[in-house]
Amino acid sequence: MHHFQYQDNILYCENVPIPNIAAEVGTPFYLYSHATLKHHFLTFDSAFDGIDRLVCFSVKANNNIAILKLFASLGSGLDIVSGGELYKGLKAGFSADKIIYSGVGKRIDEIDFALKMGILMFNIESMEELEVINERAAILNKKASISFRVNPDVDPKTHPYISTGLKKNKFGINIEKAIEGYKRAKELQHIEIIGLDCHIGSQITEIKPFEDAIISLKSLYNELKNIDINIKYLDIGGGLGIPYSDESPPLPSDYAKAIKQHIKDIPVKLILEPGRVIVGNSGILVCKVLYRKSSEVKEFVIVDAGMNDLIRPSLYKAYHEIKPVIKNNNKEIVVDIVGPICETGDFLACDRKVADLKKGDLIAVMSSGAYGYAMCSNYCARLKLPELIVSGNQFHVIRTREIYEDLLKNELIPQFML
Ligand SMILES: *Cc1c(COP(=O)(O)O)cnc(C)c1O
Repeated sequence: MHHFQYQDNILYCENVPIPNIAAEVGTPFYLYSHATLKHHFLTFDSAFDGIDRLVCFSVKANNNIAILKLFASLGSGLDIVSGGELYKGLKAGFSADKIIYSGVGKRIDEIDFALKMGILMFNIESMEELEVINERAAILNKKASISFRVNPDVDPKTHPYISTGLKKNKFGINIEKAIEGYKRAKELQHIEIIGLDCHIGSQITEIKPFEDAIISLKSLYNELKNIDINIKYLDIGGGLGIPYSDESPPLPSDYAKAIKQHIKDIPVKLILEPGRVIVGNSGILVCKVLYRKSSEVKEFVIVDAGMNDLIRPSLYKAYHEIKPVIKNNNKEIVVDIVGPICETGDFLACDRKVADLKKGDLIAVMSSGAYGYAMCSNYCARLKLPELIVSGNQFHVIRTREIYEDLLKNELIPQFML
């Protein structure tokens, strides 16, 4: 369920007509619905009622501080992949003991920061990383709680760029090698083993890959138990997909039901790392048609948002539904909706059937709340766009639009060139 609906042919976010927002702040912008964010988080979390769990929102999907603060207030933990995400999470009010740290390339300064703050655990992705974390913990006179991210070699059947649990992927450690890893970790003085983790990919639309992964994890759990390594936290990562067009991913309730079934006989606290499923359909990108043009073979709709604002279509050929903000009754035509960037890959939609759009029309790029703003850039010296949130009949700016001065704020001209 989301709160982007038409009333009298005008698209609203909750009770606010989107054209009113565009008139006030200009385009393009990201727009989130507070009620949807809250509903998605609570629906996901409550699907696991009855079992001991911690939902750790995956910050990389959306790191706006206002959104993080909302999740903190709802009892969420965080899954981070960088020092910057740790910094923002703490600023948003998360307590460190609800933060877990994933990622294959943790730097020493980032590890030290996390150790000093006392995060819940590190998800270790290589044996070298384990040794470094032990060394850093020794220097700081701390004990680092860890889990290993194992790679269960299951195919999540999603886009190759977002599959992470196959043997050929860079993530985690091979599940057959995990026992050795745990044995080594047990010898290290500044390491405390508490968990077992996997994350097999993103935008997964079936339950089976998750079940296959849990079955592998459970057998590892039992093997570890036999050698007196007792796992307290079982982390099954994120990755649950959302409907972008006609996919029908499992509902959180079905997903939770399947998982509960598999872990009911083991006394662990479950950790989940959802990102997209919470924020994806809670946000949209609103932009404006700048020009129309046609070539012999194509109709183009040129809009004021490009691949620097939303890279998913260019990067993964991702499908985002396109909706006119004000419905017209024009006949439908097939168009490419493209941005202003000087790249052929700069499109938001290709060969898409939409009601004929004209210069000045507003369009909504749906399902843009996850990996939308989080992946935007200043490519072509374009100003990063603002983010807004609606609650009821009010909208609030939660990130201002950049101004030209921002483009120079970290740049220097060396003395000799002046
Ligand atoms: C990206 C990521 C997630 C979140 O994935 P979603 O598909 O957005 O749910 C969770 N855990 C890890 C380790 C990740 O890298």
